[in-house]
Amino acid sequence: MTRISVVIPVYNEQDSLASLFQEIAEVAVHGDMNIEVIFVDDGSTDQTWAVLRDLSEQHQGLKCIRFRRNFGKAAALSAGFEAADSQIVITMDGDLQDDPSEIPRLLQALESNDLDVVSGWKKERKDPWNKRFPSKIFNGVVSWLSGVHLHDHNCGLKCYRREVFKEVQLYGERHRFIPVLAASRGFAVGEMIVNHRPRQHGHSKYNWRRLPKGLLDLMTISFLTGFKNRPQHLIGSIGLTSFLFGALGMVLMAIYWILRMVWFPDWTPLHQRPIVLYSLGALLLGAQLLCMGFLAELMIANSLQKTGERPYSVKDELGFPEKSKPDIAESRQVD
Ligand code: UDP
Ligand code: MG
Repeated sequence: MTRISVVIPVYNEQDSLASLFQEIAEVAVHGDMNIEVIFVDDGSTDQTWAVLRDLSEQHQGLKCIRFRRNFGKAAALSAGFEAADSQIVITMDGDLQDDPSEIPRLLQALESNDLDVVSGWKKERKDPWNKRFPSKIFNGVVSWLSGVHLHDHNCGLKCYRREVFKEVQLYGERHRFIPVLAASRGFAVGEMIVNHRPRQHGHSKYNWRRLPKGLLDLMTISFLTGFKNRPQHLIGSIGLTSFLFGALGMVLMAIYWILRMVWFPDWTPLHQRPIVLYSLGALLLGAQLLCMGFLAELMIANSLQKTGERPYSVKDELGFPEKSKPDIAESRQVD
């Protein structure tokens, strides 16, 4: 019997939970699966926790976690992953918009294509245009910048192999970038069209304000996935360019100064030429950025030393003595 964990972050979703649990239970019976459902109540202020308590009194195979306050979807997901004890974990939203009957197909897509992450694609998304439109732009930009080409990075319905969470740390609003973060560690990521349904109860927890935050997160993620272990290559390149332009300007001005002193006294005096200021600015900026790059490198070096985190990710191992394996598994969990 296949055993899987389904992680569901919920924030004020009291009216959806019972039906959702029922739907998942039916999928388990029909698909002959052993499904462990993990609800994470992300600091709800409605009756969500009371409903979950009732559910867990009536049913087995249910884990519920309650946050002290609202920590955000990424934190809720990561608490769910921690609690999951199956090799395969599925995440879905708790508002009945994701369809549990897609679970068997997600599993099949994972197994038959030998993937580590299968991300849902709400091709026919049942949300108003003011959610669909920004989301299209977001997906286009993320795909383009990250090189991970998915139509729906932020889909709540996804299927993962357990190894993925040992390496991908979720905090802040990083849940939107799980496929990007997983792919950057070398995991195989694919997508599958999934059914989507309109929201029946409650209301969406996200609005247009997530756009600027999403953009900033995107910049951070692009930086971290591309330059996390070599920040000087990005910061330093900009710094060095600025520094070189500044230096060139200064050299030219020095030559100008000499020419004016010796042969061309009617040229404008140096202190009246704005290029001197620009060059000086570029020189200082460049030097500052280079120093920042060094500081960033220093921080990485220190943190790698402290946490024992490895700057790489191992998929398989062969030819090692059996004894050394647990050590490797343990140190991976530190990640
Ligand atoms: N959610 C959460 N914490 C939050 C915001 C949302 O756990 O701070 C949950 C929410 O209850 C739902 C899922 O994340 O189960 C997706 O949220 P929502 O449906 O509001 O997003 P949308 O579908 O509108 O993008
Ligand atoms: Mg929703």
